[in-house]
Amino acid sequence: MSHQHKRSRQAVDGLLEDIKVVLLDIEGTTTPISFVKDVLFPYIRENIEDYLKEHWDEEECQADVNELRKQAEADSEADMEGVVTIEENKNTDDAEEVKAVRDSVVKNVLWQMDADRKITALKQLQGHMWTTAYKSGDIKGEVYDDVVPAIKHIIADDRQVYIYSSGSVQAQKLLFGYSTQGDLLEIFSGHFDTKIGLKVEKASYLNICEEIGCKPEEVLFLTDVTREARPASLAGMKTCIVVRPGNEKLTEEEESEFNTIHSFSELISTDAQNKKKK
Ligand SMILES: [Mg+2]
Repeated sequence: MSHQHKRSRQAVDGLLEDIKVVLLDIEGTTTPISFVKDVLFPYIRENIEDYLKEHWDEEECQADVNELRKQAEADSEADMEGVVTIEENKNTDDAEEVKAVRDSVVKNVLWQMDADRKITALKQLQGHMWTTAYKSGDIKGEVYDDVVPAIKHIIADDRQVYIYSSGSVQAQKLLFGYSTQGDLLEIFSGHFDTKIGLKVEKASYLNICEEIGCKPEEVLFLTDVTREARPASLAGMKTCIVVRPGNEKLTEEEESEFNTIHSFSELISTDAQNKKKK
C-alpha cells in the first residue's frame, strides 16, 4: 500500500508544470458519483406529484405534459411493455378529471424512470424540476471540499479551469451555480458537454483545445475513469485519475499507467513544492 501510494505521489509531482488549462470531469471528480443516483433522480420520484400540482397551470408544465403524452402515444403504438398513456385534459374545470390526468403523468414518469429511459420528453420535465429545485434551495450541487481551494490556487496562477461532462452545460451550471460551496460559476472559464463530442473519443479533446485556443500538452484533464483519460492522453493532454469513494476501482495496470490523486489538494501541494525547489 505505502509503496503504491508513494509511486503515484511521485508521478503527481509537477502535474501543473507547463499547464495553462485544467479540464475537469464532474461525476467522480469534483462531485460524488452518488449525487445523480442518490440525490437528483430520487428527487424526481419523491416530488413529481407535488411539482405537477403546483405548476400544472403554467405554460412550461403543460408543454412538458404534451411532449410526454406524444411520447406515450408513440410508445403505445410501438407496443412497449407496461406503457402508461396520458389522456387529453378536455375539461380543465373538472377537478376530478384534472387529477386523473395528473396521476397518469406521475405513473408515466415513474414507469419511464424504472426503465431508465433517457428520452427527450422525460429529460425535459426532469430538467425543469431540477431547475426549480436548485433555485428554491431544495437541491444543492455537491462539490468535494478540496475542489474550490485548489481551483482558486490554480486560477490565481494565471491558469484557466474548464468543465467537460456528459451532463448538459445547463445541468452543469445549475450544479455549480447552486452548490454546497455557493455560486462557483465565476471560477470556471467555460463548460463543455457532449455537443463537442463523446468523452471516450480522442477527437473531442482536440476539439476542446481548438475551442479554447491552446495546445493539448498545455491541458491537464482530471477524471475518474481511464476510458476518458486514455483518449485525452492520446490527444496529447496530460491526465490524472481522481480516486474518490464509490468510484470504479482501477486495475493494477491502470494504477501504474496513470497518475492518480485522492484529493485536489495534492495538485497544489506538489505545485508549491516544485516552486520552492526552483
Ligand atoms: Mg466522471
